[in-house]
Amino acid sequence: MLYPQRFSQFTQEHAETLAALLCGILLFLGWFALHLGSLGWALLLLPAAYVIGGYESAREGLTTLIKEKELDVDLLMIVAALGAASLGLWRREYYLIIDGAILILIFAISGALEGYAMRRTERSIRSLMSLTPDTARVLFQGQEEMLPITQLKVGDEIVVKPGELIPTDGMIVSGYSTLNQAAITGESLPIEKTVGDEVFAGTLNGYGALKLQVHKPASSSLIQRVIRLVEQAQTEAPPSQEFIERFERIYARVIVITGILLVFLPPFIWGWNWETTIYRALTFLVVASPCALMAAIMPTLLSGIANGARQGILFKNGAQLEKIGKVRAIAFDKTGTLTTGQVQVSQVIVSSEYSQAEVLKVAAALESYSEHPIGKAIVQAAGEGWVRGVDVQAIPGRGIIGFAHNEKVIVGNAAFVQQYVNQFPEELQNLAQSLENEGKTVVWVAREGQGDEETRGWGDSTTTTQFSVMGAISIADLLRTEAVTTITRLRKLGVEQIVMITGDNQRTADSVAQAVGIDRVYAELLPEDKLDVIRQLQREYQTVAMVGDGINDAPALAQASVGIAMGIAGSDVALETADIVLMADKLEKLAAAMELGRRSQVIVKQNIVVALGFILLLLIGNFLGNINLPIGVIGHEGSTVLVTLSGLRLLK
Ligand code: ADP
Ligand code: MG
Repeated sequence: MLYPQRFSQFTQEHAETLAALLCGILLFLGWFALHLGSLGWALLLLPAAYVIGGYESAREGLTTLIKEKELDVDLLMIVAALGAASLGLWRREYYLIIDGAILILIFAISGALEGYAMRRTERSIRSLMSLTPDTARVLFQGQEEMLPITQLKVGDEIVVKPGELIPTDGMIVSGYSTLNQAAITGESLPIEKTVGDEVFAGTLNGYGALKLQVHKPASSSLIQRVIRLVEQAQTEAPPSQEFIERFERIYARVIVITGILLVFLPPFIWGWNWETTIYRALTFLVVASPCALMAAIMPTLLSGIANGARQGILFKNGAQLEKIGKVRAIAFDKTGTLTTGQVQVSQVIVSSEYSQAEVLKVAAALESYSEHPIGKAIVQAAGEGWVRGVDVQAIPGRGIIGFAHNEKVIVGNAAFVQQYVNQFPEELQNLAQSLENEGKTVVWVAREGQGDEETRGWGDSTTTTQFSVMGAISIADLLRTEAVTTITRLRKLGVEQIVMITGDNQRTADSVAQAVGIDRVYAELLPEDKLDVIRQLQREYQTVAMVGDGINDAPALAQASVGIAMGIAGSDVALETADIVLMADKLEKLAAAMELGRRSQVIVKQNIVVALGFILLLLIGNFLGNINLPIGVIGHEGSTVLVTLSGLRLLK
C-alpha cells in the first residue's frame, strides 16, 4: 500500500524485500513438502510463510483498526488469506493454504515494488538538492579555514575555487566567473557573474576564483528554502487523494459487509455449496480491494513534481499540479513578469531649477531601500555621491517617501505624487505622456517646501507641508523575449482569458500589452485592486492563475487558485506566497508547467479507469467462477503495480 508517511523510511526497503524473499522460499518449501505428502512439514513451513510475509501488513492493519477504528486493505488481505487457510484445514483441502500463502507473498512483493517506486521518485527529487557542500572555505585574518556551513556568520568572507560548488548564498566581492545554476533553475547554460552579483548555494562555479560575502544565514539560502518546500510538498495530500482515502474507508466497509452477505446468501439463492461460496467470498475480498485506486494519484503527482523540479518549476504540492492543468484564465503582472524587470533609467526630465543629476541623487537616497526594479534602476543611474535617506517607507504599487538631506521627498507614480503636489508643470507632463506612449514607466520626484501654492500634507498630519515637482524619471524595461511565444502557447493550450494587471500607468500598460498580444488590461492598480481583479476573474472562470514577482503581487498571488511567482529574481514575499515558483525565471516554463499539469491529469484519469476496470473484471470473473484466489491476487496486485508504474511515466 502507498502512504506518504512511508517515503523517508529507507531501511524499510530492505526489510520489505527480505520478508518477501523469505516468504517466497518458505512457500516453495511448504508446497514441496505437501507434494511429497509430508503434511507435518507443510503445516510448519506454510504458517511461517504467512507470519513473515504478512507481519508488516497485519501490524499496520491492526494499528489502523485499533487507533482509528477503521478497516484498511492490509487487514482485508490478511483476513482473506487466513480465511483460505482455515477453509483448507477444515475441508482438508490443503492447496487452499497454499493459495492463501500466495496471496500473502504477492501482497508482500507488490508492497516492496511500490515502496521502491515511491522511493525512486523521492530520490529523484532529492538528488536535485544534494548539491550543497557541508563546508566552506572562510577567510579569517587573511587565512583560509574550512568551516561547516552551519557556523558561517552573515558578513563572513568565503573563497570558492574554480569548479567548486557554491556552499551558501553570497555576494561576489571580488572575482569573475561563469556559473552553472542548473541546481536552482534547471538551466545549465552558464551565467556570467561578477562583483556585486548574487550567487546561490548549490550552483557550480566555472573557471574563475571568487570571493563572496555571506549575506544571509546558510539555513535560509534559496536552495535550503526550496528543499523545505519540496519536503513539505511530499507530505501534503491533494484534495483528490484525500477524497480517494475517504472513499477507501467507506468502500472497505462495504466490501466487508458484502463479503459476509456473500458467505450466506448464494447457497440459498443459487444453491452453491458452502465451500465454493466461502472461497468466492474470500476471492471477492481480495479483488474488490481498492489498492490500485489508492495508487492512482500520489505516485503520478510526485513524479510530476520531480519532473518539474528538474526543469526549474517548483510545485509546492501535488494539488497545484492538479489545479494548473485546469486553469481557464491567467492574469499577468507587467513589471518583472512580462518584462525582464532589468529596467534602466532612459531619461530624466527636470524642472528648471534642478539638474538631472540632482533629481537622480535625491531619488536614489530613498530608492536605495527599495527592492523594486524601478528603485534599483534609479540607484544604478544615480552613480556616486548621495547619502542614504532616513525614515523611508515604501508604499507598494505607488512609490516611496522619506527624508533626504533633512527634507521630505516623495518618489512615485503620478497618482501618488498628485496627493502632495497641486500642479504638475505642463511641459513636463507632456513629455511624460509621450514617454508613456512608448511603453516607458514614468516616476515623479517631488520635495518639500518649495511650492508657493497651498497643498495637502501627508496623511492626517496637521502640518501643511508643501511639495513641488523636481522632475520625472522615465524607465525603460525590456519585454521578456519569450513573452509573446508563451502567450501564444497558453492560448493554444486552451486558456480562455489572458489579462494584464499592473500598478503602472494605463498608457504604459497598453503599449506593453499590445506588444505581447494581451487584449484586456487593468492598469493603475493598488495591490488590493489586483486581488479584486482576480476575484472577479474567479467568478467568471473559476480556476484562475496569477503570475507575478513583486511584494505588490502577493495578495493577488494568495487569492488566485494558482499563484505563480517568477524565479530567483522575484521578491521573497512572492516566493513564499506563490503555489508554484518558476525558478528558471523563464516565462515559457509557465506553459511547460501547464502541460505537465495536463499530462498528470490525463495519467491520473487513465489510472483510475484501469484500476476500476480491473476490479470490475475480476469481480465478474469471480462471480462466474472463472478465477481462483491466486489469479485474483495476481490481477489485483498486478493492476496496482501497473498503475504505480504508469504514474512514474511523468518522471520522463
Ligand atoms: P507592476 O504592477 O507593474 O509590477 P508596481 O505595482 O510595483 O508595478 O508599481 C506600480 C507603479 O508604482 C510603478 O509603475 C511606479 O510608478 C510606482 N512605484 C512603485 N514602487 C515604486 C518605487 N519604489 N519607486 C518609484 N515608483 C514606484
Ligand atoms: Mg511586478
